[in-house]
Amino acid sequence: MNTGNIKPTPIHKLDDNELSFLYAKREDMIPYSFGGNKARKALLFFEEIDKIGADVVVTYGSSHSNHCRVVANMAAERNIPCVIIGPDEVSDTTYNSVLMKLFGAKIITVPVEKVHDTIEAELEKLRSEGHNPYFIQGGGHGNIGTEAYVRCYREIKAFEQEENIHFDYIFFASGTGTTHAGLVCGQILDKDEREIVGISIARKNPRGRDVVVDSICEYLDEKAPGYDKAEVEKKTIFLDDYTGDGYGKDSRDIEDTIKDAMIRFGMPLDGTYTGKAFCGMMDYVRKNNLQDKKILFIHTGGTPLFFDFLGQAR
Ligand SMILES: *Cc1c(COP(=O)(O)O)cnc(C)c1O
Repeated sequence: MNTGNIKPTPIHKLDDNELSFLYAKREDMIPYSFGGNKARKALLFFEEIDKIGADVVVTYGSSHSNHCRVVANMAAERNIPCVIIGPDEVSDTTYNSVLMKLFGAKIITVPVEKVHDTIEAELEKLRSEGHNPYFIQGGGHGNIGTEAYVRCYREIKAFEQEENIHFDYIFFASGTGTTHAGLVCGQILDKDEREIVGISIARKNPRGRDVVVDSICEYLDEKAPGYDKAEVEKKTIFLDDYTGDGYGKDSRDIEDTIKDAMIRFGMPLDGTYTGKAFCGMMDYVRKNNLQDKKILFIHTGGTPLFFDFLGQAR
């Protein structure tokens, strides 16, 4: 699969009784390996991998990682080995980890503080064996990942033009901040007025927001030098009120949100990312009286995690 095969993902209205104009952009429907933002990013990373003719892919992520699932799938499709380095602390069996095994990925787990050195050692070993390895940062972080979400932003703009609508707010789950960075870069390049609100799934401010700002600056340094740093600061809205117990922990509210979204919209959410973001968005909307605003929720994927959730549901 390559990016040339991908059409814009659907945007459709959700019939919500509280919000008059709530829409969802369904990144989970990217037609590759259960889709999601990691599929959109990985498609671009693999264009690079194909171009330079790398013969091994190395990446980082836990056993819950959507990124690692997609990367392992794309490597298997090309018949090149995939090495995944992950933290011992999050290495339980999940649908994503079962899929990684099915794709034949080599999974190395080490205590989290050893991850960095293990990655370096693995890359060194592969090079000394005559390989040409390609390393993808965890979650598909970096300018290539950011570029993927600048393109997603353009899809949103095209939809707005076609349907004669303007979204006042865009909400989504923010993890490594790459998706967030790409959307804000798109907004800055196109000089659009709206609120792009990332709901943190784990990181707290100020660090969480700083990481997004750094990613935006790194991308704009390359694509639009001379951009206004103050504008980047102003446009980066990163909410850390909804992280709950941190990465991968479901709370009661999130559980209810997931069940409710499945029943009312037929839309699967998960406990780590999309369920948290949807739940956080609804709370933010109520607290700020945004019920009549035009709101777009980006469904960033993670469908295998929905099934993990079902397995745990009471
Ligand atoms: C990784 C992920 C996110 C967060 O995306 P980032 O670009 O890392 O901020 C959100 N939702 C899902 C389903 C993810 O897998």
